[in-house]
Amino acid sequence: MSEQRKTVAIIGAGIAGLTAALSLSLAANQAEQSLDIEIFEKAEVANEEGAGLQLSPNATHILQKLGLLDELLACAGQPQNIIMADGRTGQQIADIPLGDYAQTRYGAPYIVVHRGDLHRILLAKATQQTNINIYFGHELANLVQQDAKYKCEFNYLGKAINKQADLYIAADGVWSQCKSQLGLDARNLAVYSGHMAWRGLVDDTQLVEKFQNSTHVWLGNKAHVVLYPISGGKQLNLVAFTEGVFKQKSWALDADISELKTHLTGWNEDIEALLDAAGQMKIWPLCAGAPEYQTAHDNILFIGDAAHPTLPYQAQGAAMAVEDAACLANLLYAGAEDWHHWADEILPLKLRVYEASRHDRVTKTQQTALQNARIFHLSAPISWARDLYLKFLSRFARKSLLSRLDWLYSKRYDNF
Ligand SMILES: Cc1cc2nc3c(=O)[nH]c(=O)nc-3n(C[C@H](O)[C@H](O)[C@H](O)COP(=O)(O)OP(=O)(O)OC[C@H]3O[C@@H](n4cnc5c(N)ncnc54)[C@H](O)[C@@H]3O)c2cc1C
Repeated sequence: MSEQRKTVAIIGAGIAGLTAALSLSLAANQAEQSLDIEIFEKAEVANEEGAGLQLSPNATHILQKLGLLDELLACAGQPQNIIMADGRTGQQIADIPLGDYAQTRYGAPYIVVHRGDLHRILLAKATQQTNINIYFGHELANLVQQDAKYKCEFNYLGKAINKQADLYIAADGVWSQCKSQLGLDARNLAVYSGHMAWRGLVDDTQLVEKFQNSTHVWLGNKAHVVLYPISGGKQLNLVAFTEGVFKQKSWALDADISELKTHLTGWNEDIEALLDAAGQMKIWPLCAGAPEYQTAHDNILFIGDAAHPTLPYQAQGAAMAVEDAACLANLLYAGAEDWHHWADEILPLKLRVYEASRHDRVTKTQQTALQNARIFHLSAPISWARDLYLKFLSRFARKSLLSRLDWLYSKRYDNF
């Protein structure tokens, strides 16, 4: 092992923070470099809240590299296709291949999983690593600038804890405290998109059986509904997306189901049955970031939603967080003289290289999600043209509905 022992402090033990810790730990071990990783999480205990997440092959390749895929597959769903249908009539519009076809095309599966399961598996693996320490109940309180560098101060039970590290990774999510502390301008902060997500879980055995094999997407005027199996096929993840006023910042605000039903009046009977079976749904305001974001500041790097909040309409929020982590590990441990990357004058440059190498891809993903939002929520008569086009492709060029996303799903970051 090298004598050049380095320290990374990660703010936030969410999907991005934990994946970054695991990727850096593995890359450093493989390069025979010494690295200490400390994660500071404001929640008192592991936050396994949430509902479903989609993980496309660009992310599952990385999770496989981290040795987590088998465990994930045991509690994930692997839909065979995405069936798009009209929200009102229930009539099928498109059938996009996934399942075995996606696995063969990209060399890794497209899976759907409960966020709590992914989080639990990442956390368990991180806890097993001797060079990773996780501190719960530690909330970022201050970023203090010293010369050209920053250092972090955390609040733990009312006490200030100072943390010196060679590199700080801000993985503190869409409402990033770290970003506000840096006083970044409006371009860099997440803003409410005008869209709300209503999340619920369906346990009803008949419905679970009926919708077991596919991801379903129902489209309508200013709204759409997504459904897929999670928890090893025992539950369905139901999310309705609507346009409307801002509720408070939260992942877990109780939803008023009668309000949701007014958005979906006249939709087909499957939707009604699913809403009735979903029990207490949660409401979540969707935020998006401006395309001109900045991720690197001297010795601080933003990753995941803290760097680039993305609308979930291309299902890439978690996948981009996982990619960020692997990309960083690649960058810091590529080449023979690895520890040079950490030298005072080199690290800020390395972080800029990271930023440049992620910018276009992340921006394109954000824009694709925005474009989907517009296409999914079209009203008649333009929606009729959309439906005709999708029906035509499903019939005569079905595979192109997936291959148009090759740029997204075939990208590999798992070579660290
Ligand atoms: C409770 C919760 C439920 C979610 N549910 C869903 C869902 O059902 N479906 C979906 O698609 N996406 C969900 N998401 C979002 C999804 O996890 C992210 O979009 C994606 O995985 C990117 O992850 P991230 O690590 O960047 O952010 P997150 O997963 O949001 O993680 C950020 C972490 O930083 C911590 N943190 C925040 N501020 C501070 C601070 N000041 N100091 C220290 N720690 C801090 C948070 O507690 C959290 O653990 C949820 C996120 C959370 C936190």
